[in-house]
Amino acid sequence: MPEPRKPKIIFVTGGVMSGLGKGVTSSSIAKLLQHTGLKVTCAKIDPYLNVDAGTMNPLIHGEVFVTDDGGETDMDLGTYERFLDQNLSSDHNITTGQIYLEVITRERKGDFLGGCVQIIPNITDTIKKKIIDLANKSKVDVLIVECGGTVGDIEGLPFLESFRHIRNQEGLHNTLFVHVTLAPTLDAVGEQKTKPTQHSVQELRRIGIQPDILVIRSQTSLLQESKEKISLFANIPVSNVISNKDAKSIYAVPQILESEGIVDPICEHLNLGVRNLRWDSWPKISMSFLNTIDEVSVVMVGKYVSLTDSYVSVNEALEHAAAEKGFTSRVDWVDAEKFEKRASTTRLLSKYDAMIIPGGFGARGSEGKMVAANFARKNDMPYLGLCFGFQLAIVSFARYACNLSEANSSELESKTPHPVIDLLPEQKGIKNMGATMRLGGIDVDIVEDTLAYKLYNSSQIRERHRHRYEFNQKYIDQFRTNGMIFSGSSDNGKRMEILEIPSHPFFVAVQYHPEFLSRPGFPEPVFRGLVSAAMNRRKSRIHRPA
Ligand code: GLN
Repeated sequence: MPEPRKPKIIFVTGGVMSGLGKGVTSSSIAKLLQHTGLKVTCAKIDPYLNVDAGTMNPLIHGEVFVTDDGGETDMDLGTYERFLDQNLSSDHNITTGQIYLEVITRERKGDFLGGCVQIIPNITDTIKKKIIDLANKSKVDVLIVECGGTVGDIEGLPFLESFRHIRNQEGLHNTLFVHVTLAPTLDAVGEQKTKPTQHSVQELRRIGIQPDILVIRSQTSLLQESKEKISLFANIPVSNVISNKDAKSIYAVPQILESEGIVDPICEHLNLGVRNLRWDSWPKISMSFLNTIDEVSVVMVGKYVSLTDSYVSVNEALEHAAAEKGFTSRVDWVDAEKFEKRASTTRLLSKYDAMIIPGGFGARGSEGKMVAANFARKNDMPYLGLCFGFQLAIVSFARYACNLSEANSSELESKTPHPVIDLLPEQKGIKNMGATMRLGGIDVDIVEDTLAYKLYNSSQIRERHRHRYEFNQKYIDQFRTNGMIFSGSSDNGKRMEILEIPSHPFFVAVQYHPEFLSRPGFPEPVFRGLVSAAMNRRKSRIHRPA
């Protein structure tokens, strides 16, 4: 039997500034290699001290992406899953916090036998082991490891140092360094500037890493003369300087990189042979995001309104569903607190085709979200509630349709006489905040002859969760009598997972997070349902006589 081939490792680092789309670049390279018939996966390194993303504020750091195994991870894992159509586990996200926790726990146990525990080699070896173990465990041909942050950040240094060690250990042709930078164009001169890239490569070299490929973001294609200049200063063949101009859709990036010639130098360096691309449905899917005929407008009512990355998977899921219909989705965020002064509700909301109340925590803005959910219910506006948006639709229904005016979630008002949303029994007594919610993929049973059943076309689905509170089934009959039914449940009927109002065109809310399962070309069914309902509402509004 021939020896199984050693996995190749591609390291992706970033220079100049954050936000250049390292995640999309990593995913796009992975997608291209996947289309040459290789088995590929991606991992993300986050140099912060949090053990995972679960305790971080999405307003500052972006969405917390939940994996099927219950990991609370960096949002780049969502990008990898969507591009590769692959479910990843939590060990695809490595943080400084995890590494130090592991090393210090071993030190306390006495595992180092009196030795002095140091960043090099103890921290770097632990990082190295995690990466190599992941490459072997996932049985891939190529593992792509993206390092968060920007070269030169102090907290990223141990990781870059480990990458260097891995190259030494695994060999030049088993590892590849891709560096993502920017060539800005200053309006006044209109000239592409290569200096930031030159400096960033110098910084990388100072740590002992010579990049093999540069992927350079720019407004328009990188000029040949800019490529040549960069090639000279960075000591890289011109063919390995890849232009990545701004794209209308992230799903167009694999083809852009392919047409810029990224595949050959990668395969050549990694001794992967000449590999031809065999596209499947991807070009058609990625085109669907570009050739759109109209848009649906969705109002997202929430608290984390200033950073769109806070709900990136929700935005993507909407785009997937809209693109499938030849549409694009326009999402407007409205700060929930605005609805606490009721007067402006109709003016702010009635112009939209649909409403989403996404996941969230805490009391601020929650009263406004309940008012907004009630507006959607009473005005036949398509509504999708996600997790907190499920819970608040319930409180809103209790107050405004079931006559329980003091109903609330015990997360928001611990002394409410009607806790229609209450703490999960297993959450009682939990004190630690990290990784203690009801997390990850859980099977959901769906009741036949319901809208949920029609949408999913199945009596069982598996969806990802992240919550501490749930519907209090003491109220189930009262809700049913007033027109809200529960069409999905989990844990043998113990937890309610899906609600709907049969008399409404589309009022659906789910305790889980369907956005994490949506993929381009394969929208998650509740988003598909919402977009169809939104299109119907749009049509009827356009054709309504003045
Ligand atoms: N705060 C709610 C809970 O913990 C909802 C959580 C969420 O939306 N992810 O149950």
